[in-house]
Amino acid sequence: MTPTAQAPDARQVRASDLGAPLYVAWQITNECNLRCLHCIEESGPQRAFPGELDPAQAFSILGQLVECQVPTVCFSGGEPMLHPGFFEMAMRLCAGGVSLKVETNGHFLSQENCLRLKESGVQSVQVSLDGATQESYSALRPGGKLDLVLEGLGNLQAAGIPLEVNFCPTRANIAEAERIVDMAHAAGATGFYTGRTMYTGGAVRVWERLAPSEDQYRSFFAALHRKAQEYKGRMRVRYHEMGLVEELKYRLSHPAALFIILPDGRVKLINALPFVCGDLRTERLTDVWAAFQRAWKDPRVAEFVAGMERRPELAAELHRWVRL
Ligand code: SF4
Repeated sequence: MTPTAQAPDARQVRASDLGAPLYVAWQITNECNLRCLHCIEESGPQRAFPGELDPAQAFSILGQLVECQVPTVCFSGGEPMLHPGFFEMAMRLCAGGVSLKVETNGHFLSQENCLRLKESGVQSVQVSLDGATQESYSALRPGGKLDLVLEGLGNLQAAGIPLEVNFCPTRANIAEAERIVDMAHAAGATGFYTGRTMYTGGAVRVWERLAPSEDQYRSFFAALHRKAQEYKGRMRVRYHEMGLVEELKYRLSHPAALFIILPDGRVKLINALPFVCGDLRTERLTDVWAAFQRAWKDPRVAEFVAGMERRPELAAELHRWVRL
């Protein structure tokens, strides 16, 4: 999973006004074919969690998402298309009236898979495109194949599946941002999303060579502003200038109406914090949703966010999960 701030509409709605989340980001596996330098989840080959959900557990959660009329679910990972039950799970949700989005690195978008995505009823696919050339792309995603991803974008378009593109800026690719916006539009994307790369997960280890300078960010956001104007009415160009700690401080008083299901069924408050508020292997979704709302008021959450401001290295502890 790519560590830039994304903003589904659920982020704008007060969680306390609802009986269930508006948006569920479900990391259906931690397994991935790539091992990207900046991966927030530290996914990769043979990195599936030991206790990932079995089919009965996964289908029980799918049933609850449908029953609670959660409007939108996003399958991510790891690489969600590597999950052996990916298509069956997608079909179950879509048949139940849930709008399903898939976040993928784009390496499995063959013609056949795109047709199956379409038949399953998947609403949109978001592909990470972090380089305009193979060189810049694989600087961040070693072993990744840009040609294969671009072919996959064509297959999505041919299958009639709405495409969104996500871009994670680093020193290696930030100067290519405008070109990548153009590539996204040429591939038929309806949206292009980006923000500051977050100091979390694998990015912490290589931050010195990864992180763009403030000058680079200034030029980047100015370029995106121009691109947003250029593509107005044709493709959404959305970017978040807020840094990680600023975003978390805002969330303390405005929890978004979304939560994150980990591959083993535990539920996290938000990607960039280590706090877990429930476990869907043993608890009902509605109970976990109530716990989610209480958890945002737990003083340990505010203390952790304040600590991150003083000690950014705390972001390296996001995978030492703390049950609230
Ligand atoms: S493709 Fe995504 S999930 Fe896989 S390693 Fe890269 S950033 Fe992580």
